[in-house]
Amino acid sequence: MATLDEFSLIRSYFANPVAPQMLGVGDDAARVPMPAGSQLVACKDLLIEGRHFFPDVDPRLLGHKSLAVNLSDLAAMGAKPLACLLGIGLRQADPQWLEAFSGGLLELARLWDCPLVGGDTVRVRTETVISVTALGSLPEGQQGLMRSAAVAGDDIWISGYLGAPHVALLALKGDARIDSDLLARTRSALEQPQPRLTLGQSLLGLAHAAIDISDGLVQDLGHVAQASQCLTQLRYADLPIDPRLSGLPEEIRTEAVLRGGDVYELCFTAPASRRQDIERIGRQLKVPLACAGQVLDGHGVQVLASDGSIMNMNSPGFDHFRESSDV
Ligand code: ADP
Ligand code: MG
Repeated sequence: MATLDEFSLIRSYFANPVAPQMLGVGDDAARVPMPAGSQLVACKDLLIEGRHFFPDVDPRLLGHKSLAVNLSDLAAMGAKPLACLLGIGLRQADPQWLEAFSGGLLELARLWDCPLVGGDTVRVRTETVISVTALGSLPEGQQGLMRSAAVAGDDIWISGYLGAPHVALLALKGDARIDSDLLARTRSALEQPQPRLTLGQSLLGLAHAAIDISDGLVQDLGHVAQASQCLTQLRYADLPIDPRLSGLPEEIRTEAVLRGGDVYELCFTAPASRRQDIERIGRQLKVPLACAGQVLDGHGVQVLASDGSIMNMNSPGFDHFRESSDV
């Protein structure tokens, strides 16, 4: 990007006030004080136009989501946000687009006290590329809600509801089975996810493993099963299916619930002895929490149908969905 353009662009859209003890946008690097007795947690997601977002998506929602997906990863560790950085590659500097994009990102950053403290801006010839790095903290001695921490005997919990983002994605890709009314009602789940940060932090010391459902429930729970060397078994009848999916054909609903990605909810495991504590947290935070499975000795992921039989996870729908989903 031409030097002058780049500097005025950064100043106009990404420079923002930070706390006096911090050094934000404008120097060679940012300086962020760590809370006493804490350790750094860091994550990064890459979003590519045409792959992770539609070229014509509302830029304000895109700014929101670029940060939200990273805050969701911090939430899944039980971490508290500290600051974020933005790498962005743009074909052109469109003031209206930039104003809306940075507005959406900075608004969510303010909401979670996660100031944008730096980044890099370049011109690209091809697709727009956005990469946010989120920094967070965990108390010293606290390992966080690691994928490897599930233990046989744990319950499996899921926050919020499953399926709506996948339905919106299908509709935006032109799937005629989903009408415009349903798209209108599910779209915000896809485009404006709300990271479960307070829940994640409340689960520290209580839950064992946690993960967000960005790639779909079965796949993400598979990561927990593998890292923890156990079997994660879900009960389909207990899964929190989004009520907005109720009128859809069964086959779409099942796929959306089990395979649908972009669900920035937490799936976590916790000892059965902590069931009441977890229910209390759900009530206090007003977050629906469903106890929908169990961790057992074994390997992989199983989903039990209402009659107790094991559902077949190798349906063609899976491969079809994977083709177009995130990596
Ligand atoms: P350098 O040449 O040292 O990489 P830059 O000119 O790229 O510096 O950036 C100048 C300042 O603006 C730095 O503080 C950098 O972190 C910040 N910055 C650049 N791009 C962004 C962005 N997209 N969002 C936030 N801060 C940015
Ligand atoms: Mg730079």
